[in-house]
Amino acid sequence: RRLGVDVTVVELEPVPLTRSVGDDAAAVLADIARADGVHLLCGRAVAELRGTTTVESVVLDDGTELPCDAVVVGVGAVPATEWLAGSGLEVTRAGLICDATGRAGDHVWGVGDVCAWTDDAGTPHRHEHWTSAAEQAKVVAHNLACDDKRTVTAATYVWSDQFGRRIDIVGDITGHDDLRVLSRNPDDLAYLYARDGLLTGACLIGQPRLMVRCRQWIAARTPVADLELWVSSAP
Ligand SMILES: Cc1cc2nc3c(=O)[nH]c(=O)nc-3n(C[C@H](O)[C@H](O)[C@H](O)COP(=O)(O)OP(=O)(O)OC[C@H]3O[C@@H](n4cnc5c(N)ncnc54)[C@H](O)[C@@H]3O)c2cc1C
Repeated sequence: RRLGVDVTVVELEPVPLTRSVGDDAAAVLADIARADGVHLLCGRAVAELRGTTTVESVVLDDGTELPCDAVVVGVGAVPATEWLAGSGLEVTRAGLICDATGRAGDHVWGVGDVCAWTDDAGTPHRHEHWTSAAEQAKVVAHNLACDDKRTVTAATYVWSDQFGRRIDIVGDITGHDDLRVLSRNPDDLAYLYARDGLLTGACLIGQPRLMVRCRQWIAARTPVADLELWVSSAP
């Protein structure tokens, strides 16, 4: 959009980014994109790209044909683990399964995008973020060097910049039983997710400084009871 070109986003889900930021924040971000002139086509899949020497149009699953000059494909990634077949290591669609210390098997450890580290509840998760790859690497290096069983305690964290707004996603925003929405102004939103009375995750729009506090609160398994007070007193 900054180049002045027309942009159409084709998205399978009803709203883009719901998996990453949660339903409510995703709706806000979709409105921000629309306000900046992005045409969102949701609940639609791409069926075909047409063209001769270069792409000329995108055909959707309902037959709609969108003329275009260029296509950017962003549809996710699949762990490349074929080379581990027959190794005896546990490899699923989630990736290389590791325990909470990064151990995948005897004398084998895994870090980064290709691995699914097991959480406290016994569920393996793949975190495709720079910060996760770095935190996991530090923990594995420590466990190898010190024959220890350290786990990652820092809350996962990823950021993005969209239409001049900083978006921070901290911790786990799935499986919550409580959601607090705090807003100091329309450009400044905090979605705080909690489970069993404890803060588990947050999606912050335009509040980078609150991100640091949220990471600390989540890692410290902070009760959500006084959250609004803490947030309003944050710098
Ligand atoms: C377009 C894009 C934007 C992103 N933006 C962000 C962002 O804003 N913030 C964020 O936190 N994260 C972002 N990420 C995710 C981030 O890049 C990854 O989480 C991070 O790079 C993972 O580090 P890694 O070391 O696990 O894997 P990688 O960085 O992918 O490194 C893996 C390396 O292993 C090599 N390799 C693969 N198979 C083999 C093999 N069999 N033998 C030897 N080498 C092999 C690969 O060539 C590669 O060099 C983005 C990713 C993409 C693609």
